[in-house]
Amino acid sequence: MTTIQQNLATVRQQIALAAQQCDRSPEEVQLLAVSKTKPVSAVQEAIDAGQRRFGENYVQEGVDKIQYFAASPFAAELEWHFIGPLQSNKSRSVAEHFHWIHTIDREKIASRLSEQRPTNMPPLNVLIQINISDEQSKSGISLDELPQLAAQISSLPNLVFRGLMTIPAPEKDPARQLAVFRQMTQAFNQLKADYPHIDTLSMGMTDDMSNAIRAGSTMVRIGTAIFGARNYG
Ligand SMILES: *Cc1c(COP(=O)(O)O)cnc(C)c1O
Repeated sequence: MTTIQQNLATVRQQIALAAQQCDRSPEEVQLLAVSKTKPVSAVQEAIDAGQRRFGENYVQEGVDKIQYFAASPFAAELEWHFIGPLQSNKSRSVAEHFHWIHTIDREKIASRLSEQRPTNMPPLNVLIQINISDEQSKSGISLDELPQLAAQISSLPNLVFRGLMTIPAPEKDPARQLAVFRQMTQAFNQLKADYPHIDTLSMGMTDDMSNAIRAGSTMVRIGTAIFGARNYG
């Protein structure tokens, strides 16, 4: 087993443990392997260990990997999630290549993606990004703005609204961290009353995964714990 394969096994165990500790089934929590800045050889090791869902932050890097793995025997099983901030001028590449986007925070980018989604592809799965910690500099909308954006997205023909995503501010106090995640779960459950088909609450990264699962996350986005530290050199 390679280091990445060992890391993946450890992360899967941690997910299962966190789920069991709060009486959830481990299958309720999907693992998104965040491969940004990592070479295709690292992604291949994860694929060989059974990983199929990958998250990328940079459009061109993600498209390069998607195209590289289109020749893989596992191509049809792979699921590519765009999880970085998206500029309008790069939306077409996301619409033409990815399966999911987690960072929708305005109607304009959503309608562009819907228009640009090729008709021979299934609709693009989208999550609305919530700025739960209300940090001025971070992307995402406030919970107040959620009903309007959810309604706008749901009316777009080539998108499927799947749920919510958040990146909370780092929080040292585990009780406060848990409370922030629970606020997201509450908003997600409320939204389900109007959109019963939504099924994805994307929250939890390497440092806060267990608390996110305890609070109700259905998809954790894990980079460092699987692929090691990133070098942005
Ligand atoms: C980089 C990134 C992750 C992974 O973070 P780690 O701390 O390395 O697990 C998850 N989500 C988003 C949006 C990211 O940009």
